[in-house]
Amino acid sequence: MNPSTIDLLSVDDKRDFIRVDFNVPLTNKGEISDDTRIREALPTIRYARQKGAKVILASHFGRPKSKADPSLSLKPVAERLGELLRIPVLLAHDCIGPEVKLQIDRLASAEVILLENLRFHSEEEKNDPAFARALAELAEVYINDAFGSLHRAHASVVGMVSHFETKGIGFLMHKEIAALSLLRETPAKPFVVILGGAKVSDKLGLIRGLLSSANTIIIGGAMAYTLQLAQGVSVGKSLVEANKVSEVKELLNETSRRGVTVLLPEDHVVVPVTQPEGLYVTTPGRQIPDDKVGVDIGRQTIMSFSSAINSARTIFWNGPMGVFERPPFDRGTKAVAEAVAGAQAFSVAGGGDTVAALQQAGLAEKLSHISTGGGASLEFLESGDLPGIAALREPAVSNT
Ligand code: AMP
Repeated sequence: MNPSTIDLLSVDDKRDFIRVDFNVPLTNKGEISDDTRIREALPTIRYARQKGAKVILASHFGRPKSKADPSLSLKPVAERLGELLRIPVLLAHDCIGPEVKLQIDRLASAEVILLENLRFHSEEEKNDPAFARALAELAEVYINDAFGSLHRAHASVVGMVSHFETKGIGFLMHKEIAALSLLRETPAKPFVVILGGAKVSDKLGLIRGLLSSANTIIIGGAMAYTLQLAQGVSVGKSLVEANKVSEVKELLNETSRRGVTVLLPEDHVVVPVTQPEGLYVTTPGRQIPDDKVGVDIGRQTIMSFSSAINSARTIFWNGPMGVFERPPFDRGTKAVAEAVAGAQAFSVAGGGDTVAALQQAGLAEKLSHISTGGGASLEFLESGDLPGIAALREPAVSNT
């Protein structure tokens, strides 16, 4: 059973701890370059305020090496959030401790405090029980609205949750779980899954998890070369994971036993291995010559992938089709983005690169759902559950 959404919980006039994902990108000058993650959390924060809650927000931010790295303070986030909510947002100097507790006690109803970066304490990522308890002591209600963090068993996602009777999810999380559950459980057919990116090893589990629901799995990016190698077709000096070939062979056998179509590139854009910035050419077929490296899918492939996408009624896409950071090797990814955006289907995309490619092409709005969590969306599709969701289902432990 899925956890309750905030509007089904009694949060009125309580101290509500809301775990958000404010891990926003910064410019070299330390300014927020994209505030999407802050905006996505607004509906839940606004709801808690309307109900008169004292709103305690907590997030990780970057990967601080030292205990308190000022360049990874959540200060710019508190300011941006204040502008968006049109109220002052307090920034606590830490995320636990007596001073923070006192600040929270002094909050008036509907006021908002943002705790300082959770990762300033290494105990967060270790899911340390004492740290989890110290976080839990700050609040009466726990809400998780940080979908992108749900696959991590960290103190603010898992450890602290067992201390709460009243707990659930925010509106953003509800949207994510609803969209991904639909893909897992009742996708309209044909269900076409598009996978790309560098590593096949990251996605083998996902492919297995989708065998009972997907009709077609399209594979591009460097991932495709390991599959091509497993079929005995030469890949030149392209990026492969040679140690995964036997596992991939078994998986390919399994897909054909289950009647799932795997679509691989029919041609490739390649560059000379000695001159990666040199002249690129498109191979006439699947074979990649010994002195060449694959960098994108070819024109023939774009046509066959687009035609499969066009006939889909449900689509999930994760991972670029080529080295899209280096135009013109973004053509395959752009073409797939256009096909997905143009399809008459329920379409979901996840993963930083995929979402960036859709945004660059101005097509993100055309999809049914853009997942805010790359790793979390893959893991949810694979297993139907995540550590952060499982923690919300557990009964509360006694704090005495
Ligand atoms: P992942 O993190 O596994 O989703 O991989 C994303 C990365 O895959 C991007 O940085 C792409 O540049 C890279 N990628 C996609 N296609 C290729 C390719 N043909 N060769 C090398 N890297 C690739």
